[in-house]
Amino acid sequence: MENGKRKTVNQVGLQDDQPREHCGIFGIYGHPDAARLTYFGLYALQHRGQESCGIITGDGSRVNQHRGLGLVPEVFDQQSLERLPGHLAIGHVRYSTTGSTLLVNAQPFVVQHGGRTMAIGHNGNLTNAREIRCRLEEDGSIFQSSMDTEIIVHLMARHRGAQVVDSLINALEHLKGSYSLVLATADQVLAARDPHGFRPLCLGQLNGSWLAASETCALDLVQADYLREVEPGEIVVMDAAGLHCHKPFAPALPQRCIFEFVYFARPDSQIFGKSVYQVRKRLGAALAREHPLQGDLVMPFPDSGTYAALGYAAATGIPFEMGMIRNHYVGRTFIQPSQTMRDFSVRVKLNPVKELLKGRRVIVIEDSIIRGTTTRSRVKSLREAGVREVSMLVSCPPHRFPCYYGIDFSRKGELIAAQQEIERIRDFLGLNYLGYLSLEGMVAATEMERDTFCLSCFSGDYPIPLEAAFSKTCFEEDLCAPGPWEGGPVIYEAE
Ligand code: SF4
Repeated sequence: MENGKRKTVNQVGLQDDQPREHCGIFGIYGHPDAARLTYFGLYALQHRGQESCGIITGDGSRVNQHRGLGLVPEVFDQQSLERLPGHLAIGHVRYSTTGSTLLVNAQPFVVQHGGRTMAIGHNGNLTNAREIRCRLEEDGSIFQSSMDTEIIVHLMARHRGAQVVDSLINALEHLKGSYSLVLATADQVLAARDPHGFRPLCLGQLNGSWLAASETCALDLVQADYLREVEPGEIVVMDAAGLHCHKPFAPALPQRCIFEFVYFARPDSQIFGKSVYQVRKRLGAALAREHPLQGDLVMPFPDSGTYAALGYAAATGIPFEMGMIRNHYVGRTFIQPSQTMRDFSVRVKLNPVKELLKGRRVIVIEDSIIRGTTTRSRVKSLREAGVREVSMLVSCPPHRFPCYYGIDFSRKGELIAAQQEIERIRDFLGLNYLGYLSLEGMVAATEMERDTFCLSCFSGDYPIPLEAAFSKTCFEEDLCAPGPWEGGPVIYEAE
C-alpha cells in the first residue's frame, strides 16, 4: 500500500491485552557485511518491536538508510540490503512507547547537522522529553517526528564538540528516564545506557568487529561472542581505533527493569548477567512454594508463562502439558469471518486440546495479567473444552501501577489489578483460584539484590519523577507541538 494510506478496516489486529515490548537495538562496527548482520540481529530482536524497523550503514564517508513499517522480513529484502554498503551499521525494531505508528517515527532516526550525518536508535522512555522539547521549540528548533528520541539529536546539535561522544555526553546530561541507545556516523558506532540501567544492552565481538545489542540472542544468531553488559551510565565508542569506554556520569541508583526477566526478554537471552530461561524456571518454582495447588496438569497459554510453568511442574511433580496449541502462522492481522463466530480471534491463535483437558483440574501459569480481557476469553475456551477446574498462577505480583520507563502500560486505567481486588479479578476471569507471586518471591528468583531493580509497576514507588501529563502520544496532543498527527494515530503500511 502506498505510504500515507490507512490500513483496510476489515482486517482486525491480533492485539491482545499483553503488555507491548518497547524496542530493540543492534549495532556493529568493522564488518564488511554490516547491514546483513544487523538484519539478522533485528530478526533475533523482533519480539521487542513489530511496528517498524530500520537499518543505517556507514562506509567511512557516507550514511545509507532503509526504514519501513512492518516486520523485519517485510521491510527488508535482498535488494534493500544491497543498497546498504558499509563496514558499520545500527538497526532498530520499534513498538512505540512515545509517538504513534508513523513512518516518520520509524528508527534509526537520521539527521544532518554541521556537515555530519548522524543516526540514532533508542530503547526506553525519556520522562522529561516534553519539557525539553517545548524549550527547544521556543528556541526555534523544528521537529520532524513525535518521538522523544528526536530531542537527543537536537541537544547534541546545540553542544557540538570536536568529537561525537562529547556532544552525546552533553545531550545525555539533560535527560531523565530510561535509554539504551545506538548511534552511528559515517565512521563511528556508539552505544550508551542510562545511569540507572533500566533497559538491557550488551557488547559482543566477532572476528575483530564490535557489536552492541539489546539482548544476547542477537549476538548468538550472528555467532558473535558475548563480552559483557554496557554498564549503567557507560558510553562505548567503536571506531577504527577499537573500543573506547567513557563513564562521564556520577553513579546512580540501579533500576534494572525486573519485568524484562518475567516477560519481555527472550528466554534464550542473558540479561543483567543472568539467564532469562533459568530465572523464569525459578519464578515457577517460587510459585510452587507460595501456591502449592492440587491439580492434574500444569500448562501455559503459549507463548507466555511456558518456562515458569516448567519450573512449577518440576517443583510440584504435576505433569506439564501443552493444553492449548498455538497457530504459529497467524499474522498480526486477519480477515474477520463473515458470519459471527464466537471468540474467533482467540481460537484462531490458540486452540485447546480437548482430549487432554476434559474433566481435568488445570493449573495455568501466566506471566502477567494487564487488562484481563484476553485471559478471560482463554479461560472461557478452556471451560468450553470441558475442564473441571481452572486455577491460574501469575509469575509476578499484580500490576497496580503504570510504567513510565519504556513499557506500554502507561495509564492506570489499563490495569485490571489497579481497579479490582484479587477475588474480583478471579471472578471476572472465570477462575476457581487466582494467585500471584509475591514481590519478595519474584526478586529472590533473579538471585540479584532487590535494590538493583525497578519495581515501580508493582510498588508504585517511582525512582524518577515524571512530567505532568506524560503519555505515549504527549507530543501529538501537546500544544507545544501541534502537527499532522492531531486527531490520533494513523497506521501506514511499509514503504
Ligand atoms: S515500571 Fe515495571 S515494566 Fe516499567 S521499567 Fe519498572 S519494572 Fe519495568
